[in-house]
Amino acid sequence: MENRTIFEKIVAREVPAEILMETDDTIVIKDINPQAPVHVLIIPKRKIEHISSMGKEDGEIVANLLLAATTFAKKNGISSYRLVVNNGALAGETVHHLHIHLLAGREMGWPPG
Ligand code: AMP
Repeated sequence: MENRTIFEKIVAREVPAEILMETDDTIVIKDINPQAPVHVLIIPKRKIEHISSMGKEDGEIVANLLLAATTFAKKNGISSYRLVVNNGALAGETVHHLHIHLLAGREMGWPPG
C-alpha cells in the first residue's frame, strides 16, 4: 500500500514542486497554497512524522531544518518572518511529514488564528 507522503514524493522528484533551496538533508519548496507573499516549506529529506514524534536521534536534522530556514531568509534578504510548525489536526496539520512554514512579506497578527 502507498503510504508515502506528498513530501517524500517531492523529495524523490516523483511529484513536481518549486524547489528553491536544497541542503544535504533538507529541501525548501514554495507552498502550493500561499498564506503570505512569501510562504515556503522547509522539509527534511528523511521523514519524521510530526514534531511530537521527534526523538533525540532527530536532533541534528531538526537543528538543520531551522538552519535551512534562517539561511533561506538571509539569502533572500528577508529579515522579518514567522516560522510555524503545526502539530495535530486542531492545530492545522494536514501533511504528516514534519515541515516548517516560513511566512513573510506582510504584517502578521498575534495571536495567530
Ligand atoms: P500543514 O497543514 O501544516 O500540514 O501544512 C501542509 C502544507 O503543505 C500546506 O500549507 C499546503 O498548502 C502545502 N502543500 C500540500 N501539498 C503541496 C504540494 N504538492 N506542493 C507544495 N505545497 C503543498
